[in-house]
Amino acid sequence: MKREKTFQVFLGSLAIGGRSSVSVESMGRVYPGRVDECLNEICAAAAAGSDCFRIAVPDEGALSGIIQLKKHSPLPLVADIHFSPIIALKAVEAGIDGIRVNPGTWKNRLQYQQLIERMKARNGVLRLGANTGSLPSHLQKKGRVEALLDSIIEMIEIPQKNDFHRIILSAKSTDINETIEIYERLADAFSYPLHVGLTEAGEGFEGIIKSTIALSTILQKGIGNNIRVSLTSPNPVLESQVAVQILQGVGLRQKGIEVISCPTCARTRGDVVSFVREIKEAVQMISSPFPIKLAIMGCEVNGPGEAKEADLGLAFGKSTALLFVQGKVVKTMHQQDALSELVKQLQLMVSNPMVKK
Ligand code: SF4
Repeated sequence: MKREKTFQVFLGSLAIGGRSSVSVESMGRVYPGRVDECLNEICAAAAAGSDCFRIAVPDEGALSGIIQLKKHSPLPLVADIHFSPIIALKAVEAGIDGIRVNPGTWKNRLQYQQLIERMKARNGVLRLGANTGSLPSHLQKKGRVEALLDSIIEMIEIPQKNDFHRIILSAKSTDINETIEIYERLADAFSYPLHVGLTEAGEGFEGIIKSTIALSTILQKGIGNNIRVSLTSPNPVLESQVAVQILQGVGLRQKGIEVISCPTCARTRGDVVSFVREIKEAVQMISSPFPIKLAIMGCEVNGPGEAKEADLGLAFGKSTALLFVQGKVVKTMHQQDALSELVKQLQLMVSNPMVKK
């Protein structure tokens, strides 16, 4: 797929746009004043594959937390601030990497101008993020896509006049087709990097499927530099994992361990479902800087063929399991030993990339 060319901006140390790979943002659930809990969320999101983290900053009380989080966070931070330019200015002074500004909740142009000047001085990034749930009142009679686009056009004028270009754009809808259309139009109209997401996607399967359709369609058009999956869930781990899976699925994340497994059928030899659950849990503790494909197959009919195609494969036989490394059978073992052996082989491959062709 051909990637649309955009400017590149640096959110802290994270490059977004230009030739950099598409990155993942996730968002905290915890009030930033609860620093330890918030930091735990950030670390969990990072372990699940997030590259940057957004925090809602609802009041001035949260600012002391921002200072602490900035000191300890493993990920660049974006403060999501509505209605209060004063808090945004203070967050910039506290060293936040980026500020998300929603055109629908920012009215004071003078304070917006001041914010841009401070961000320019402090190398901050502006994420101009419109949302169908909070369109500016004077645009609400327009169609939603037009209103999203116009709200961005109106708000981009001040940074551009100030020669400020560390900008990332987003315009999110709850509707899949509107989301696809608005991102096509943003990509046509601007050269700034795009943060892509479907807003308020929902919970569980519904949210995951809707986000996957919208984001993968947009990414396959070569549009998008940073993504977020917005799911109703108690923490940001699931949304990070889904975002990473989407990037892997469309071939845009070339690192990490991908587990493929057969659906099981009447031929299945052994408890493949439990085995896959266990290996996926174990895999979360192993970080690979390059892609590794791991295949778990339930029988010796189709299993060996599929397992051979992967970097590491396991095909279940009658109480046994065949282990494949780069397409060759290296071991036949009892099924009860297969989990520890597979983890051992994975760790070996991660520490010695030469094992992987
Ligand atoms: S790999 Fe074997 S067990 Fe799994 S679905 Fe295919 S035929 Fe069935």
